[in-house]
This record gives sequence, structure tokens and C-alpha cells, in this order.
Amino acid sequence: MSKSAEDELPVLDAQGKSKRKSKTKAILTDATKCIGCERCVQGCVEQNDLPQDFPAHFKSNDGLSGARYTSIVEVPGKDPGTSRFVRRQCMHCADPTCVAACLVGALTKSADGPVTYDADKCIGCRYCMLACPFSIPRYEYEKALPYIRKCKMDETCRVAGGAPACTSSCPTGATVFGLREDLITEARRRIDERPELYVDHIWGEHEFGGTSVIYISDSSLGDVLKIPTDKEFAKRAVASLTHESIPHLVHNWVMVTPFQFAGGLAILGTIAFAKRRQRVMAETASGKDEEDES
Ligand code: SF4
Ligand code: SF4
Ligand code: SF4
Repeated sequence: MSKSAEDELPVLDAQGKSKRKSKTKAILTDATKCIGCERCVQGCVEQNDLPQDFPAHFKSNDGLSGARYTSIVEVPGKDPGTSRFVRRQCMHCADPTCVAACLVGALTKSADGPVTYDADKCIGCRYCMLACPFSIPRYEYEKALPYIRKCKMDETCRVAGGAPACTSSCPTGATVFGLREDLITEARRRIDERPELYVDHIWGEHEFGGTSVIYISDSSLGDVLKIPTDKEFAKRAVASLTHESIPHLVHNWVMVTPFQFAGGLAILGTIAFAKRRQRVMAETASGKDEEDES
């Protein structure tokens, strides 16, 4: 695919004018179209000049590593005995936890979507790895001078046509690049057109505040993408988390903490005042009794 999905998926209103509001870029992967050929992985390797991957026992089972920014994972399909192939890569969250966790600003959220990494700023604390709800960032443990590695989706990935090498390399159009708004519209169109095929869900549309990598499929992708279902979240009594980014939730708690502290002080002060009043009244009463006796 030489043209970007941005060019291929125009969204026009009744007057023929573009309805686009946001310039946020994104990748839509449709698991029903993926044949597992790994051309996307190869395109990324070539574009980013990535070295040969490390032996499997050093890697996680999703195939991502310091030398692989995207991978293909085989998961059970809708029907027994069938498989689906799903791309793994950084989700480029709208409000990324990795950015919030990084103490030195090595990870940055760009206005147009990508979450980028500056190796020169990184101190190797790996807080981003702990913070990421999708378990994406990898560390180059095998290197003497290791860095964090993950999908970049920035200008350095782009090939002719403006799309990243991974989406441009896909022979089936299973993974496409474009404006997030357009891709959400396209995903919704496909689901509505074939409700008997697709699960009625766009993974990444809302979860954890929304992401710039979104998915549609004919079988659940929650496990492979590490996105809990609403039911699972509800079980843990934190259903609201699914539609809210973690930094935003943390921010809310941080914002109310001073008020909780002040409230606590006020309660303690009231108790202390009441006790003191009780003591003074008791002392006054006993002084009066002594006066009466004398
Ligand atoms: S998926 Fe993880 S590494 Fe990627 S932007 Fe979100 S929090 Fe950061
Ligand atoms: S967006 Fe760039 S870094 Fe990410 S998988 Fe595609 S080519 Fe690789
Ligand atoms: S290139 Fe396209 S069809 Fe091949 S594995 Fe990647 S997403 Fe699937």
C-alpha cells in the first residue's frame, strides 16, 4: 500500500467538506484480514535497521524485544481449530502512563499521536516498563549500554506515501495508517457492514483513555492486547478504569490528596477541641464542687 490510509479514507460531510477535527495519526489493524506473513515485522526491521533478534529464551512470548518493535501473535480464532494473527506494538496511548512515569522526560507524547523516546535523556530506571498497562517497552538486557525499545510511529518510520514501513509492507491491507478519526469511522463502518463477522468493539477506541493503535476482529483480542474486558474490570470493582487513562486517574487522586489531608486535620482538630472543652468543663465543675464544700 503506497498511499497512506489518510489519503484513502476521506470522511466528507453532505457538502463534500472534510469533517476531520483532529490531526492525530493512528494505525488500524483488522485481524480478519491478517494472514500472519510478518511482512509488517520485516518492513519495520528494514526501515529501522534492526539487528538479528536475540535467542527466544530471552524474549517474552509476544515476540517483542529490543530488536523487534512489532510482532505477530497467533491466537485462537472464532471457530474451534482456527487461528487469528494479531500485531503487537506500542499502542501510542492518548494519555500515556509511560510518559507520566518517566522521571526525566525521555518519553514524549507528540501532538499528532506518536509516543517517542529520547535515548539521550533515558537513565535506564525502567519505570516506563512497569507503568505500561500493555506491557510494551523492552530493555536491551543483552547490551553493555542498554536502552528502552518500542515502536516509534514517528517520521523516521515513514516511507513513500507518508505511512510507516510496517503498514506499507502489508499485502492485504490488514494494517493501515491514517488519521485516527478516519480510522475509527472506517472500523465502525466495517463492523456495521458485517455484524455477523466482527465483534462489536473497537479495541483502543476508549480503553485507558484511548490509543492511536486500534483493532477490530472476529474474536476477542483482550487477552493478546492485555486489555481487560469490562466484565473483568467490573469484577475488580474498577470498571471506570477502562475508559479513563491511568495518568488522569492518578492526577485526580493527587489533586484531592491535599484536600483529604486538610479534611483529616479539620476532623482531628474538632476532636481535640471537643476533648479539651470536655476537660475544661470537668475541671471547672470539680473546682466549683471544691468551692461549695469549703
Ligand atoms: S502502550 Fe505503553 S509504551 Fe506505548 S504509549 Fe502506551 S503506556 Fe507508553
Ligand atoms: S510504526 Fe515504525 S517502529 Fe512501529 S512497527 Fe511500524 S515501522 Fe516499526
Ligand atoms: S503484513 Fe499484514 S497480513 Fe502480513 S502479518 Fe503483517 S498485518 Fe498480517
